[in-house]
Amino acid sequence: MTTKSRGEKRPENIDRVFDLLEEMWECEKNPPDLAHEEPLDGLILTLLSQNTNDLNRDKAFAALKARFPSWNSAARAPVEEIAGVIRPAGLAPTKSARMAEILAVLQRDFGEYSLRGVREWSTDEIRNYLLSLPGIGPKTAACVLLFDLGRPAFPVDTHIARFCRRMEWVGETTPPDLMIPLMESWVPPARFLGGHVNIILHGRGICKARKPECGRCALSPLCPYDRRKGETGEGLPLSKE
Ligand code: SF4
Repeated sequence: MTTKSRGEKRPENIDRVFDLLEEMWECEKNPPDLAHEEPLDGLILTLLSQNTNDLNRDKAFAALKARFPSWNSAARAPVEEIAGVIRPAGLAPTKSARMAEILAVLQRDFGEYSLRGVREWSTDEIRNYLLSLPGIGPKTAACVLLFDLGRPAFPVDTHIARFCRRMEWVGETTPPDLMIPLMESWVPPARFLGGHVNIILHGRGICKARKPECGRCALSPLCPYDRRKGETGEGLPLSKE
């Protein structure tokens, strides 16, 4: 399997797979609340989520907001103090340094510690701007676009990358950052938010990294990973995370 041959063609079964995922998880019908008035909150939350789980990310973010009720007050604090507060999220020295750098850039560019100024920009302009910020990669930029700005973007995390590889929509070695533009070109934008969350729930609940529960998965008839496993009678190698 080559990355190139798998990466360029829209998968024929993608609409049906998204339909079945919706039947199972219903996040297109019941999308998550897009709660952040201030997109900077979402950016910092996503920064904190790097290399940790949701629980530790949320603990760190709650501690940050409790200690610094405004981003102004966070920007005035020593980086070491911020690192102490966000320690539950891990990589605290790196994340606190990036946070301080981002706040400084926003103050320079917008005259305030806020990302609200991008709301009128085009999606491409916002994505490029986010990618120019320290420590912000394609996944974080796509998360902020989708969840905090309501823009059409399809973040690809470890669950979605694993799922796309098992479906053979992409090659085994295709990196998640390259899957983002592929998914954005294959999936109708109206399905980005609910479809994204459906796959994440599926990856956490059924299509797990170590032991996918193919026997109770409605996608099994469409899934090459399960079919190959049946043919050989052996489990396939674990997906690369
Ligand atoms: S059949 Fe198995 S590998 Fe395929 S999507 Fe379902 S749980 Fe994942």
